[in-house]
Amino acid sequence: MDFSFTEQEEAFRQELRAWLEANLPEGWLDGTFNMPDDEASFLRDWQRKLYEGGYAAIAWPKEYGGRDATLMEEIVYHQEMVRVKAPALINYVGIHMVGPTLMQIGTEEQKATYIPKILTGEEVWCQGYSEPNAGSDLAALQTSAVKDGDKWIINGQKVWTSFGHVADRCFLLARTNRYDKKHKGITAFLLDMNQEGVETRPIIQMDGKHDFNEVYLNNAVAYDADIVGAVDEGWRVSIALLMHERTGIGAQVFTLEQQFNDLVAVTKELEADGEPLMNDPFVQRTMVDLYARSRGSLLNYYRNLTKQLKKGHPGVEGSMDKLIVSEITKDLFAQAISLQGHQGVLWKEDAVVGGSYWQDNYLYSFGQTIGGGTSEIQKNTIAERILGLPKDMGR
Ligand SMILES: Cc1cc2nc3c(=O)[nH]c(=O)nc-3n(C[C@H](O)[C@H](O)[C@H](O)COP(=O)(O)OP(=O)(O)OC[C@H]3O[C@@H](n4cnc5c(N)ncnc54)[C@H](O)[C@@H]3O)c2cc1C
Repeated sequence: MDFSFTEQEEAFRQELRAWLEANLPEGWLDGTFNMPDDEASFLRDWQRKLYEGGYAAIAWPKEYGGRDATLMEEIVYHQEMVRVKAPALINYVGIHMVGPTLMQIGTEEQKATYIPKILTGEEVWCQGYSEPNAGSDLAALQTSAVKDGDKWIINGQKVWTSFGHVADRCFLLARTNRYDKKHKGITAFLLDMNQEGVETRPIIQMDGKHDFNEVYLNNAVAYDADIVGAVDEGWRVSIALLMHERTGIGAQVFTLEQQFNDLVAVTKELEADGEPLMNDPFVQRTMVDLYARSRGSLLNYYRNLTKQLKKGHPGVEGSMDKLIVSEITKDLFAQAISLQGHQGVLWKEDAVVGGSYWQDNYLYSFGQTIGGGTSEIQKNTIAERILGLPKDMGR
């Protein structure tokens, strides 16, 4: 495939650039912006703006409010968003995971009810998969849903629920039947988070931030109309959503590219014995290694995206992207900390370069190799489903 941009694609880039300049909050581009205390409201407003500008979900089909963007337009989009370090997408789960899954498997009623509000950010979503005893082994989940007329009464506990504290709805997996085989008897629900039976408790990470939560379900209620796919057949649905999740995470190749460029700037800025670190052959060797790996991951992502566009839905290749990108990201931030020598441990206002950007992201990078399925699980998936090797004995 030819990855040079046509005049039309460059025109799209200019249009998006102009839109970003006009719509990013004051101080965003020159680094003087201060995030308000109510970050969630700010991010909801930002998503609303993206929607009004036609940039909330450019890859979605036009009939669902997207732009039917081409692969190359998607690449331009990612490059430009990363270039300005655009605010985070608060409805990431809705746009990249729940929306595409509903388009693929949802009923017409579910599509009409939920998709428009996902796009505007009016309803923020979270993903209720993991439980205290079900992570990599997701099919071991124990949260139960019991039928009561047209209602389902749900009891159990979810954990690591990103956005749970700001979410209006949850794409939740619950056990509706206890068959011998644990992959059977699971059902996927579109749960209303704003009800008495749902309690969300924060989990504070080692970087001091609050991104995810424990969610307790005490007689929470869902309805027949909230079921995605068939009752007891939710495993297939859960995998469809995970494929979208991993492909979405793979798009971090663009962030990685930007982070690599930022790291190059750091190696030029920091000095040892009066010389920029970039002149040190050992630093050069690590930087070349990181460059080669991140460039390779970008090309691999392009290849997988091309395949996905041909098939119309993501495939198992998303596991490769997810694995490679998260592991290189971790190595890149470890290198950034190491370049700062003993000052690498200084954090927040004491940080010597980049205002704590490197320390924050270094701490966060460990989670990236876990969320969306750990690196070991991606390796198992690649081994079994891409390379055709024998199945993991543990499952
Ligand atoms: C940043 C972040 C965001 C998250 N967001 C969400 C969310 O929004 N919603 C949600 O439901 N969950 C979320 N999670 C949870 C995440 O999906 C789980 O943490 C993950 O699936 C691993 O499960 P676990 O933590 O139970 O670890 P375990 O499954 O207990 O794994 C422990 C260790 O054993 C290894 N291991 C386990 N099984 C195997 C095997 N078969 N072969 C080889 N090694 C194995 C793992 O790789 C890992 O190193 C998030 C996690 C993080 C870090």
